[in-house]
Amino acid sequence: MTEHPLSKSLSRFFVDPDFIDKAARQARIVDPQQIKQIGNVLRLSVGSHVVILDGKGFVARCLITELSKKQVLLDIIEELEAIAEAPVLVTVAMPLLRGGRFDWALQKMTELGVHQVTPIICARSVVTVDLRNEKDKKEKLDRWKAIAREAAEQCERSVVPEIRSPIAFADLMAPSAVSDEQWNLKVMCAERSDGILLSHVLLTLLNEGNGHQISHALPMNILVVVGPEGGFTDEEIESADRASFQLVSLGPRILRSETASVYALAQVITILGDIE
Ligand code: SAM
Repeated sequence: MTEHPLSKSLSRFFVDPDFIDKAARQARIVDPQQIKQIGNVLRLSVGSHVVILDGKGFVARCLITELSKKQVLLDIIEELEAIAEAPVLVTVAMPLLRGGRFDWALQKMTELGVHQVTPIICARSVVTVDLRNEKDKKEKLDRWKAIAREAAEQCERSVVPEIRSPIAFADLMAPSAVSDEQWNLKVMCAERSDGILLSHVLLTLLNEGNGHQISHALPMNILVVVGPEGGFTDEEIESADRASFQLVSLGPRILRSETASVYALAQVITILGDIE
């Protein structure tokens, strides 16, 4: 696939696949924030080029053919090669946190290549949501999805990580929790535990026979669980043990939950991902 030399420096926008007509080679941007960004902030106009992505791997250079306050119409000029995702699909389950710290972690984890994020409500969670209040959950989810989309645009990922609706810790322990993936590894990060270092677990996985599985053809599925400000309760640690989670340490220092999530993800991506 030969790419137009300008493509790399063009602004990138995730567009809902429903608004991309590949057969007619046309697309439409209707998100008010993106329209404002294109017209007012970047000062692009009819005749300018942008890159659109559908969040699932389709990337294309487009020409703006119409720009109004309601929509931006685009002609698809050429399909571009998507930047490959890490061959390890990491799901991070972490608690909601005070003062925008969950949002911060979400942004950083998107940049690092997280595949899926599931907010969990633990026994010692300080910030919770009423899991029965669908409206409240949807509002929060929409905001988190926007954070993930903007971070993915900024770091030039071709895929937007999936952000799940919050669930109770107990539901995470159910066999089909988070997704129906077959997990290659499920770890629970617990400070002051006798847990083996996460980096050792990952290096063992890499070296002892599983290394051959790490390819784009057969990605690994890894679930990392991090606890709230007050840490996990003994009951939660025991239930994770029963659900075949491996207890792991992130070292002798006690990290904040958001640091622990980002640090654990970075270790998985460093050791098992980004190999090509
Ligand atoms: N309340 C605990 C305390 O005072 O010791 C600290 C909990 S820590 C702030 C929040 C979460 O980060 C923990 O539940 C754990 O999942 C993770 N975490 C922080 N430091 C860790 C470490 N050194 N090893 C493993 N997990 C860690």
